[in-house]
Amino acid sequence: VSELIVLKLGGSVITDKSSDTPRVCGAHLERLAAEIADAYESIKERTRLIVVHGAGSYGHPIVKRTGIDKGVTSAEQALAFAETQALQNELNGIVVRALLARGLPAMPLQPSAAAVMQDGRLVEMDLGAVRGLVSTGLVPVLFGVPAFDRSRGGAILSGDQIVAFLAVKLEAKLVIVGTDVDGVFTADPKTNPEATLIKQFTAEDLSLLQEVRDETARADVTGGMLGKVAELRVLAERGIETVVVNATKAGVVRRALVGEGGIATVMRR
Ligand code: ADP
Repeated sequence: VSELIVLKLGGSVITDKSSDTPRVCGAHLERLAAEIADAYESIKERTRLIVVHGAGSYGHPIVKRTGIDKGVTSAEQALAFAETQALQNELNGIVVRALLARGLPAMPLQPSAAAVMQDGRLVEMDLGAVRGLVSTGLVPVLFGVPAFDRSRGGAILSGDQIVAFLAVKLEAKLVIVGTDVDGVFTADPKTNPEATLIKQFTAEDLSLLQEVRDETARADVTGGMLGKVAELRVLAERGIETVVVNATKAGVVRRALVGEGGIATVMRR
């Protein structure tokens, strides 16, 4: 029996998130592609893999500027919505190319082709194709996108939301969330010197979350670290282990994939 790992590559890692125009972080992307391909080689006999990536500077600036995360009501917003999707396809193309170049059978899959949202939540996405491709030995690469929303016309489907949906429906064994900090802290480690790493959450003590402060959550269109944890807590409740790791540090994602621990936040039942 093969076990499924869902790996998320944060927009904060694969792009320069501080840029207000789309900019890839090529150094991280190339290194991660090598790490993922290398790790996959040693685990592929017993493990299947799905990669999901975020948008970073390919998504957040245009979404904020045009307000399409709140809905699509004007012709300008429809244009911005389609433009945002086209940008994500470009980023996805770059990510997939990097993985392919390392010999990983990375298969680009655009979630908005099948995703149906309601009030900003993903409620339907047929996974027959994903399931089939995974069993054929491909590594689907999905990504955060603007998607159809029944109540608002359109909404932003974050990579984190896709990760949670896939992991639950496909009964993943492990979810690895790569971001640009060492895990979940008591406050934003980039701005708060007092922030300490929370090494472990269990489903019961996720209430601990009330003690987590995230000054970035309001500014980030997909909710920053708090949004991420809120999205992923369902996994702990269902017994799917989730680790939040620093994908900007060399070797960390490779080690997480092959099951070697390290500095991270682990969320489990
Ligand atoms: P990604 O793009 O990798 O999905 P986000 O940018 O959405 O990640 O969220 C990660 C960011 O959240 C980090 O760069 C960090 O500065 C910020 N952050 C805010 N509060 C916290 C916290 N309590 N713990 C960890 N990171 C936090």
